[in-house]
Amino acid sequence: MKDGPTTHPSARSQHRILVVGAGIAGLSAAFRLQRAGYDVSVLESSSHVGGRMWTEEIDGYRIDTGAALLPDSYHQMRRLIRDAGLTQDVVPSGDVHGFLRDGKVHRFGKHISLNLLTTRLLSAHSKRLLLRLAADTRRLGDRISFRDLTTAPEADESCIAYTDRRLNQELFDYLVEPLSTNYYFAPPEELSMTHVYLAAGSALGTGYFNSPQGVAFLPRGLARQLDVRHDTRVLSVEEDGNTVTVTYTDHGGERRETVAACVIAVPGPLVAGIWPGLPTPMRTYLSRLRYSTCLHVSFGLSAPPREPSIWIFVPRREYPGGLGLCLDHNRAPGRAPDGKGLITLYWPTQTSENLYGLPDADVTAQALRDLEQLNLFPGLAQRIEMTSVSRCRPCVPLTHPGSIGELDDGLRSLDRTSRIALAGDYFSFGSTNAALTSGEIAASRLTVTLEAGRPHRG
Ligand SMILES: Cc1cc2nc3c(=O)[nH]c(=O)nc-3n(C[C@H](O)[C@H](O)[C@H](O)COP(=O)(O)OP(=O)(O)OC[C@H]3O[C@@H](n4cnc5c(N)ncnc54)[C@H](O)[C@@H]3O)c2cc1C
Repeated sequence: MKDGPTTHPSARSQHRILVVGAGIAGLSAAFRLQRAGYDVSVLESSSHVGGRMWTEEIDGYRIDTGAALLPDSYHQMRRLIRDAGLTQDVVPSGDVHGFLRDGKVHRFGKHISLNLLTTRLLSAHSKRLLLRLAADTRRLGDRISFRDLTTAPEADESCIAYTDRRLNQELFDYLVEPLSTNYYFAPPEELSMTHVYLAAGSALGTGYFNSPQGVAFLPRGLARQLDVRHDTRVLSVEEDGNTVTVTYTDHGGERRETVAACVIAVPGPLVAGIWPGLPTPMRTYLSRLRYSTCLHVSFGLSAPPREPSIWIFVPRREYPGGLGLCLDHNRAPGRAPDGKGLITLYWPTQTSENLYGLPDADVTAQALRDLEQLNLFPGLAQRIEMTSVSRCRPCVPLTHPGSIGELDDGLRSLDRTSRIALAGDYFSFGSTNAALTSGEIAASRLTVTLEAGRPHRG
């Protein structure tokens, strides 16, 4: 993040700023604002920080309940980790991804071009067509980024239309569909190609990093350096001239605080309910934006399966509805007790919605049936010593064709001098890095607004 105009920190500390939501978007905004010298508190409705970037520990197994994969292309996250003094908490992760076809796992690592030359996942014709996707992704370059997607309007084409125009059925079945289903938990029929470009460009053929503590190392590490108030639900945020009034409830009942500025960092569908003054075009964008649903089941194993992948894509051509399998113990040491394994099965939205309300025992039984039918890890059922079910709703935003135009209108409608700023994962590829980047942009923008509003001396 670029530094704002230089002012003595003690002058800035007279400005009090509240941040709503202690997910990674809110925490990154709060961290940057505090570092810039402001007096910041974060109000969080739940009892823990991190939101959808969280890790639970059960019997020595560390289960990421939301986000799991952190590619090296997350440059903003790497920088924040460094600036927050958390570099010692991360290690290089495994980087092998597997794609299932005809009962066989076809693996790709960091050196994907070499893997593509030899893989039998795709025909020679499909490999040639794949060069088109590579060229199109390269052409879009930095305009498809974690900051916002409006700089690449031409990428906002449906996955189906793009496949018809540039690819073939095999690439749809074994690349476009599994990427959509596994990264966004939604079918490609509902998504814009922007998703696939970002997934292809930022998550395949790259290295990965992670933490033995689980992905929660980052929100926890930031929160240790901030004032975070838990069990505090914000009801409304309203701007009036040079102040912002935030109304919230906590253990003491309803309270009201008037501050210099506020960052609202909650999932998109909740923003309008908190900010009555949200401009209509942004309200329209957020009301049309749908989020996926994800149900996932983790199995702690007395011994890890012999599989080097961190993730296995199971295309729906290979298994009804498609699904994803994460081999958590390959992501970082410490995810399972020594000598043990941890795998997680992720269902896409449709299957997740069907199972969402069932008791954990029924959900776990379905996950086991799926694993047995896939038959990738023979004897797995006998090695299970821990199970855990995670339910995620909202999961990640789904950019449908047309979203970029709506986002563009929404962004233009926001007053850049307002003392209320938005942060969240709905400005770009729904991910921790996009949420974090949006928090840094919000902090940077508010710094400029507050400095401009300060009376000048002399
Ligand atoms: C199953 C799953 C898998 C994922 N996989 C990946 C992955 O592998 N890699 C990746 O990069 N991303 C992944 N993501 C996406 C990523 O987790 C999210 O995009 C990101 O964490 C969103 O961060 P956020 O801060 O915008 O929102 P959140 O994490 O949702 O944080 C919002 C916070 O606001 C709080 N809040 C809400 N309302 C109020 C209120 N009224 N008052 C006070 N507080 C409030 C909430 O309790 C929450 O803590 C995944 C997500 C899910 C669910």
